[in-house]
Amino acid sequence: MIKIVFATNNSNKLKEVQAQLPKGIQLVSLKDIGCTEDTPETQNTIEGNALQKANYIKSKYNSDCFADDTGLEVNALDGAPGVHSARYAGPEKKAENNITKLLIALENEPNRAAQFKTVIALHYKGKLLQFNGICKGEITHTPKGSGGFGYDPIFKPLGKEQTFAELTLDEKNAIGHRGIAVAQLIEFFKQNQ
Ligand code: IMP
Repeated sequence: MIKIVFATNNSNKLKEVQAQLPKGIQLVSLKDIGCTEDTPETQNTIEGNALQKANYIKSKYNSDCFADDTGLEVNALDGAPGVHSARYAGPEKKAENNITKLLIALENEPNRAAQFKTVIALHYKGKLLQFNGICKGEITHTPKGSGGFGYDPIFKPLGKEQTFAELTLDEKNAIGHRGIAVAQLIEFFKQNQ
């Protein structure tokens, strides 16, 4: 059995990742290791933030761990909100406000192409590794669906007629940015038990 800390306070991410992991890999929460503070995310890249969160937990709690950082990159906005996705509409990090701001920014924009990008940084047995996942798609004109979280109601992945928020957890994990990165993490654990 592999036990590994997932350095996140986002219960939606925990639920998604937990659902994808095989029985032999068990997630340990930040609460379980006594970490109740917010992990710092002050870098200006998605890679940098994933690494910063994983490094923080490794150095402060001496726990093997992985951290995920995700951003939504919109082509017509030159990759924004990108690394600023959580605070796009303000420091309170409200998904509804972020969605409203993005739909207004794209109001008269025919180019709706966008992608989610996830970077996972992993500290495990003295190694530091990175796994990436990208999911291409487009921003819809109105929010649809009640599943998922964040920008899911306005993101329609390539090849689907529904938004992420209209898909089941398993359907999102099979094609989604985080699911793609987590699949590599699982493969790594299989090879490095
Ligand atoms: P972070 O990785 O927690 O910093 O997330 C950055 C922003 O992207 C937050 O506003 C999240 O709600 C949003 N986000 C992260 N992952 C997803 C996802 O899988 N779907 C939709 N929004 C997401």
